[in-house]
Amino acid sequence: MPIATVNPANGETLKTYDALGAEEIERRLAAAEATFRTYRTTSFAERARLMHRAAGLLDEDLEDIGRVMTTEMGKPVKQARAEAAKCAKAMRWYADHAEDLLADELAAPADAADSGASRVLARYRPIGPVLAVMPWNFPLWQVVRFAAPALMAGNVGLLKHASNVPQTALYLEDLFRRAGFPEGCFQTLLIGSGAVEGVLRDPRVKAATLTGSEPAGRAVASVAGDEVKKTVLELGGSDPYVVMPSADVERAATVAVTARAQNNGQSCIAAKRFIVHADVFDAFAERFAAGMRALKVGDPLEEDTEIGPLSTEQGRADLEELVDDAVEKGATALCGGGRPDGLDGGWYYAPTVLTGITPGMRIHLEETFGPVATLYRAADLDEAVALANDTPFGLSSNVWTRDEGEVERFTRDLEAGGVFVNGMTASHPAFPFGGEKRSGYGRELSGHGIREFCNITTVWHG
Ligand code: NAP
Repeated sequence: MPIATVNPANGETLKTYDALGAEEIERRLAAAEATFRTYRTTSFAERARLMHRAAGLLDEDLEDIGRVMTTEMGKPVKQARAEAAKCAKAMRWYADHAEDLLADELAAPADAADSGASRVLARYRPIGPVLAVMPWNFPLWQVVRFAAPALMAGNVGLLKHASNVPQTALYLEDLFRRAGFPEGCFQTLLIGSGAVEGVLRDPRVKAATLTGSEPAGRAVASVAGDEVKKTVLELGGSDPYVVMPSADVERAATVAVTARAQNNGQSCIAAKRFIVHADVFDAFAERFAAGMRALKVGDPLEEDTEIGPLSTEQGRADLEELVDDAVEKGATALCGGGRPDGLDGGWYYAPTVLTGITPGMRIHLEETFGPVATLYRAADLDEAVALANDTPFGLSSNVWTRDEGEVERFTRDLEAGGVFVNGMTASHPAFPFGGEKRSGYGRELSGHGIREFCNITTVWHG
């Protein structure tokens, strides 16, 4: 894939970049290592000062970086600005909380005494240069949710961003530099995916985090495993959205539209499979399809656009294949099902709701990365749970019910890294984020996220 900005709204190539050569990669790895040696000893107060400055600069840049993101990957510009604002919030949260999150953990005095010690503690120490391989779908947020905790912990970052968002990638490097982080603290490597292995095998790189598809995760984790380096993987998702009879069905249908259509439907934590109890199926289906049909599809730079183009032509082709396969095998489109009229220049796809899904259809098990929802009818709670878990993924889940017993059952039995009750999944700096099964392992955000890339040293005092 060339490293380039190609506007998904019209297919125009706006900027292309040469990949870094071996010499430049070497220079940057050396800078990362040299910077880490001193940066690791800086105080939390100093790091927090720089992180707050980065957040302030980002706030000033919302308009500009929002337009860049929209031009690179097609998300509605309003959502792009909101993404940038969320990044500033996460930076401030980690600036304010990192010291507490990484405070020494004292062992219980009785346990210390039992070992013959006067005092025992566990201390979190930074791990070193961490490679971040990141996707284009939230081009700023995915990186910041790695970078803010990593830099606050005293690590340094090397970013290999998706090849279609080079301007956003370079912006991030520039942002941290302007904020005053030492040269080498956060560097963007403009490289293709083929060059990742060499960087990851370099002994100066201590760990890797990857957000992206399962094949990419597997490739990076295999190399890291071979090198005995830690990884965090945030991979695909096909989150269930379960609606039970006691739910506020109207509200559930309204939120379902946002949960499926946010970011042009290209979100790992988007609700993708809608599993609705038979008693409320018709009422939900009608409202949900009406909401999806009503979405305004068009130029993502226009303020009132709700669905822009998919980020790449290939992404749209993949989605079309999944829908066509389902329809050929008997699924029915309640709305959409193809390209929208009058938007031929860009990679648009109409918001779509499919019913009549059967296990023989590819869409039953594969992730739909675009504004396409699958709708299932469940006879009872047991069938709802079984359908929700009938997926290789396990990122998050959404359940709508006013029955506390059902909430407990879903929380106990859904195979997912999150259960959002009467609302849609959203990430927040203070809460852990991550999946199970093929959605990956490890956690980002919260104290769990910042500790992923720390070494833990046991300090024993006789
Ligand atoms: P992708 O094709 O896997 O790309 C992600 C990143 O991995 C890019 O930087 C890509 O570089 C790189 N890459 C791809 N193949 C690689 C390989 N063999 N070795 C090393 N690096 C490789 O995914 P995407 O299309 O950008 O993103 C969509 C996927 O990400 C979806 O499955 C989505 O659900 C998932 N996602 C998950 C989360 C989460 O938090 N769990 C969040 C967002 C997205 P190039 O661009 O140069 O190919």
